[in-house]
Amino acid sequence: MKGEPSMGDRLPQYIVRFLNGRYTCDCQMGAWGASRGLCTHIGAVIISRIYEELAKTVYAAIIKAECLDNELIILNNDAVINRVTQDGSTIYVVRTGQEATIRAFLACNDEIRELVISTRPMKNWEVMELLRGKGHTIS
Ligand SMILES: [Zn+2]
Repeated sequence: MKGEPSMGDRLPQYIVRFLNGRYTCDCQMGAWGASRGLCTHIGAVIISRIYEELAKTVYAAIIKAECLDNELIILNNDAVINRVTQDGSTIYVVRTGQEATIRAFLACNDEIRELVISTRPMKNWEVMELLRGKGHTIS
């Protein structure tokens, strides 16, 4: 992390380490000895990690099931399926490690439909929003 004089930093850069499940920073090793807790440098590292995670590209497909009683079956062990209920309908979010076209069966009440699902690149945060059940337009 770059030091920020306006934040009271004295050095041009600080090294933040993650050791034994805990963040430490050079600025904690100064004249006051090793202080515990977070500093702004550690905070900035944590936020940039969260940001990188959210900005990551994932491969996902969104399947909406309108019927009350439904189940999505995918014959592919690599796919991760999440089910979200939203406004009375069910949304399945299917994620794969890379862009993929997979066969699936969607059971709707007593009817079973065969589907071909293509996952496409999306930002991780878009998928996270869907999984949290936020109002998104599904096409
Ligand atoms: Zn620090």
